[in-house]
Amino acid sequence: MDLLDTTVVPEHAHEIKEDAREFAAEHIAPNAAEYYESGKYPWEILEDGMDAGLVAQDISEEYGGRGLDLHQILAIAEEFYRADAGIALTLQLASFGCAIVEEYGNEEQKEEYLRPVAENEQISGLAVSEPETGSDLAGMDTTAEKDGDEYVLNGEKYWIGNGVEAQWITVYAKTGDDPNNRYGNYSLFIVPTDTEGYDAEHIPEKMGFRASKQAHIEFNDARIPEENLIGTEGAGFYMVAEFFNHGRIIVGGHGLGLAAAAIEEAADFVHDRSAFGRNVSEFQAVQHILSDMRTEFTAARTLNWQAADHVANKDNAGYWAAMAKVKSTETANDCAERGMQLHGGRSVLTENRISRVYRDVRIPVIYEGANEIQRNLIYRQAQW
Ligand SMILES: Cc1cc2nc3c(=O)[nH]c(=O)nc-3n(C[C@H](O)[C@H](O)[C@H](O)COP(=O)(O)OP(=O)(O)OC[C@H]3O[C@@H](n4cnc5c(N)ncnc54)[C@H](O)[C@@H]3O)c2cc1C
Repeated sequence: MDLLDTTVVPEHAHEIKEDAREFAAEHIAPNAAEYYESGKYPWEILEDGMDAGLVAQDISEEYGGRGLDLHQILAIAEEFYRADAGIALTLQLASFGCAIVEEYGNEEQKEEYLRPVAENEQISGLAVSEPETGSDLAGMDTTAEKDGDEYVLNGEKYWIGNGVEAQWITVYAKTGDDPNNRYGNYSLFIVPTDTEGYDAEHIPEKMGFRASKQAHIEFNDARIPEENLIGTEGAGFYMVAEFFNHGRIIVGGHGLGLAAAAIEEAADFVHDRSAFGRNVSEFQAVQHILSDMRTEFTAARTLNWQAADHVANKDNAGYWAAMAKVKSTETANDCAERGMQLHGGRSVLTENRISRVYRDVRIPVIYEGANEIQRNLIYRQAQW
């Protein structure tokens, strides 16, 4: 059974997919249980991923990366997440936010900030969410006030991947206060994490994605030069919204990898287990559950890869990205739930892969925009 086969994957992503599969089998899967238990940041695996040319390589060749495109990053996501979601997120977040700098930044910013990430000397992050606001992008409170040739940042960010580990992060902050132009009040900035007034600490332990780390950041009069503004002041909301279209296709891949793991575990378990003098897989009710899991998985995967084409072609991207994210991440939840039931009592042993998957699937339905927000986007951007 090869659930993540290449049927829906375009030819140019096959090779990187194979590399990612081999890497996941050698470096991620065998270490998944240990990192889940310890909750440690997987530095060693991150470095192995860098050596394998699979980390931060979405940055273009011009700035030192491999220029991997959306389909190639999606292919890596499926393979990595099938092996372990927490380690996978850490590997995939090493260049989080860089695509924004590449798309909207100037030459100096790209040379100074993208190249070290592409060359794996630094890692980055993206800080949008706040302790009191996550879904409402036009409701964030962190401010960036202009003072001479600097911006002064004040406020808090929460859930920020690599907020402690990164050398710099892209920060979303309020630069205007026009109630009639809610979407024009925000801008994006490159903020080095050694800036005075930048303080970050890890948030408390999570039940899932244990090998990834998020931070609570406080900005107390953190001053950055005006050159660190990305693109135009007031355009931050639109830049982030565009960036999330790509991100949601990849998060769909997170769901697909997790769903594949759940199906594999469920199928293995019922084929190895007996009850009432029969193999559990012989019960028709069990076969129907496995059939439903595969049907939903195949539907989700087909949609996700089709949506990737639409997003890559900028063809109603927001609509397709939101649908892919909803379908793939919720399919992961359904598959994990059913996989748990098929494991009987053993489902709740924390050392078992199915119970890791069950805890992990709760997260992609939330990050990169909770699925309720995706449904709002689908409705608004659909033609009725
Ligand atoms: C592991 C992890 C990693 C993350 N990494 C990052 C990161 O690197 N950078 C970053 O900026 N953020 C990150 N996030 C934050 C994530 O994007 C937010 O958690 C998410 O956007 C939801 O925001 P919230 O948690 O504040 O929920 P809220 O906005 O408070 O929403 C709570 C719930 O209310 C409901 N709801 C809210 N609004 C609506 C609506 N309009 N209609 C219907 N229902 C609604 C939904 O059920 C939603 O789940 C991460 C989160 C997690 C869990």
